[in-house]
Amino acid sequence: MKTTTAVKDPVCGMDIEAATAAGRTEYQGQTYYFCGAKCKQKFDLNPAQYLGTGAAPKSGHGCCG
Ligand SMILES: [Zn+2]
Repeated sequence: MKTTTAVKDPVCGMDIEAATAAGRTEYQGQTYYFCGAKCKQKFDLNPAQYLGTGAAPKSGHGCCG
């Protein structure tokens, strides 16, 4: 049986395999994989936007939680 590492493209949310990912980037000690160069590019421009945690606060109105 083949062992594959399933990872998620943080930009488009697609499930991909680390071994066949079109691109990857290291950010804060973690490696992220992408389905294509465009997703990698987007991530590189603004990583925090796609991680949902860290420095970037969640957008939206705060009036009603
Ligand atoms: Zn993608």
